[in-house]
Amino acid sequence: MKVIQEYVPVIESVTTDVFAAAQVQLDVLRLDQVHPVVSGNKWFKLSRYIHDAQQQRKKILTYGGAYSNHIVATAFACQRMNIPCAGIIRGEEPRNWSHTLQAAGAYGMQLHFVSREAYRGQPVPPPVREEPENWYIIPEGGYGIAGAAGFADLILKIDGASYSHFACAAGTGTMMSGLVNAATTQTVVGISVLRNHTGLESAVANLLDARGKEKAFRILHQFHGGGYARKTTELIAFMNQFHLETGIPTDFVYTGKLFHALCILAGEGFFPQGSRVLAVHSGGLQGNLSLPPGMLAF
Ligand SMILES: *Cc1c(COP(=O)(O)O)cnc(C)c1O
Repeated sequence: MKVIQEYVPVIESVTTDVFAAAQVQLDVLRLDQVHPVVSGNKWFKLSRYIHDAQQQRKKILTYGGAYSNHIVATAFACQRMNIPCAGIIRGEEPRNWSHTLQAAGAYGMQLHFVSREAYRGQPVPPPVREEPENWYIIPEGGYGIAGAAGFADLILKIDGASYSHFACAAGTGTMMSGLVNAATTQTVVGISVLRNHTGLESAVANLLDARGKEKAFRILHQFHGGGYARKTTELIAFMNQFHLETGIPTDFVYTGKLFHALCILAGEGFFPQGSRVLAVHSGGLQGNLSLPPGMLAF
């Protein structure tokens, strides 16, 4: 996608009391600023899939839940690139569509709702069954080698030599795999946002290329805050405080948990003095629309 190839990475150095006390530098890759609706990392994870689909002149089919950032990003990217697309949505059609579904529909994605049991079988809707050769399938959440490679393309544009650590939130682990593949000497730290996501290490490892397999990565599982898309009053208070200190807004599903974890880790001495951490702000801010008004101060 042209827009992505032209994107110039924006990295901001931030100061917080806890990082200053730990004598650790925190820099943030501001992918949240790429687009107001489409989460930063999704753009990049999709870029190679979209390119392949275009080359093969196929329509796009993908999968996700009613709140999936991947669904809305795919819908938007396909509209931009004039590619017809369909989304299989997990669960019966809700009476009130989420902001995500409304946006995906408005961008022209055909939405097909299927029961949770049927979804597990990754069903194909009738138009695809009739002409399977016309459709290009992007796995749920953009998980796959092309997704990791698209994200690595972005990281390779950055001069990362001075960083000791790269950090990101991990859902499917695709973005994290891209970071590991693109890393040189950095240790990559992933914060799992799902509870008991025991398969995450192997999900990341499965997308590593030959160079990626030689690098160090570490996934931390204790910062999910109750599970996927769950929030605690502590998390919300942290997000407000972090915004006050740094001016950076975060979302409660991914990046709020990432920065909360990084601040706790810095306070515990996880990062040796003098470390330089580059954290990926992967966007997702539109997810905050599902919070009650006034809960966040930004
Ligand atoms: C999807 C998403 C992630 C997780 O990316 P994975 O590649 O699935 O691990 C992180 N942050 C935001 C904002 C996202 O939308």
